[in-house]
Amino acid sequence: MDLSTFPRRRYTDGPTRLQHLPRLSAELGGPDIWLKRDDELGLTLGGNKTRKLEFLVAEALDQGADTLITAGGVQSNHCRLTLAAARAEGLQCHLVLEEDLGPDGHPVPGGTGANPPQHTGNHLLFDLLGADSVEALPHGADLPARMQELSEELTAQGRTPVVIPIGGSNATGALGYVDAADELLDQFAEQSLDVTAIVVPSGSTGMQAGLITGLHAAGSSTRVLGINVSRSRAEQEPKIRGLVDALATRLDLPPVPAAATVGLGDYVGPGYALPTEGMVEALRLLGRTEGVVLDPVYTGKAAAGLIDLVRQGEFSADDTVVLMHSGGVPGLFARTDAFT
Ligand SMILES: *Cc1c(COP(=O)(O)O)cnc(C)c1O
Repeated sequence: MDLSTFPRRRYTDGPTRLQHLPRLSAELGGPDIWLKRDDELGLTLGGNKTRKLEFLVAEALDQGADTLITAGGVQSNHCRLTLAAARAEGLQCHLVLEEDLGPDGHPVPGGTGANPPQHTGNHLLFDLLGADSVEALPHGADLPARMQELSEELTAQGRTPVVIPIGGSNATGALGYVDAADELLDQFAEQSLDVTAIVVPSGSTGMQAGLITGLHAAGSSTRVLGINVSRSRAEQEPKIRGLVDALATRLDLPPVPAAATVGLGDYVGPGYALPTEGMVEALRLLGRTEGVVLDPVYTGKAAAGLIDLVRQGEFSADDTVVLMHSGGVPGLFARTDAFT
């Protein structure tokens, strides 16, 4: 897909690795498994938001921005990388955070709200990268409304702020993964791989929707299997579909078949960022077999989904499956309880 008409900044030198995982594949006795190393993308400590920000920040700069505003959880990778992009571009950056909920449906002790968030993981990095402001709101607060208000306050102070949406997932940010689809197809061709499916964590859906759209535009039959990190299948699939449709319109592509949008809800567990047994097993298995570290919120649950699908016989031994390592490892060190 030719994206050269869209403004873009470059934050990564060349493609990320497509790594073969022979020991994990042998241990599971199913398909041949490869890992796309988007945890090695550019900007501070990498991860999938870097691809989205190449397009989002370029668009903001075109609009004359001198300030970025974005929002996410207290351990948001997206907030870290938006801040890192702001530092790379010499922009101000303001972050609006939402506290996590614990398994009992109450705010996590030592979380936000009345208490300051734990100053570790990504939250520590917001400090080290010198975020111009960081505010933490109670769970369920209206983050987009607060970003809008903050934008008005900063405008009144003479700044030119641009709001980057949560997760960077709009029809601009997702272009990063339309482009990544071509990068992957080139790598499949180089390695002579016939890839059955790419397994990705599915959150704000930009990564998955971009990949689906890019593969469709290229006429590829490789499927994208989303493993939801916070929502049921019934809630997530319309969100994926909505962004796929918006991308198809923006890129003037024929509509993507409905069957292409899959977001499996079986691996979320008790909720967003809350540990599951499958996630813990997946981190230990990838670590022990391949020396690869996943994160507990996104890639760990995606890997748990892949492992379960392999065990259920969803793939044959002749299949090739790619797991997307979308990053997130800096947040692992703020969520160690599940491993003790
Ligand atoms: C944001 C994020 C995801 C989810 O990607 P979406 O485009 O929001 O669906 C997956 N992995 C990591 C590490 C992330 O930070």
